[in-house]
Amino acid sequence: MSKTEIKAPMDSCTHCGSEKGYYTNDYVVGRTRHNHHFDGTEAENGEYYEHLKHKTGKVAYCKSCNKKLFNMEEVYGS
Ligand SMILES: [Zn+2]
Repeated sequence: MSKTEIKAPMDSCTHCGSEKGYYTNDYVVGRTRHNHHFDGTEAENGEYYEHLKHKTGKVAYCKSCNKKLFNMEEVYGS
């Protein structure tokens, strides 16, 4: 999974003015391996997301008021 920086077309929410950021409802599907040590501590899980199919949601929502902000396609420029 690649974490790409996507700059929003606004600096704050156009509905409530929050600057906390936005989120997309991503769709993730697949099976992955979660490694543990015998003593219960978590082991190296660097590949945890690599086997998953990841699809970014089409719509961005405000983290504060959950209202629709913009379409991701506008930002990708496709
Ligand atoms: Zn908002």
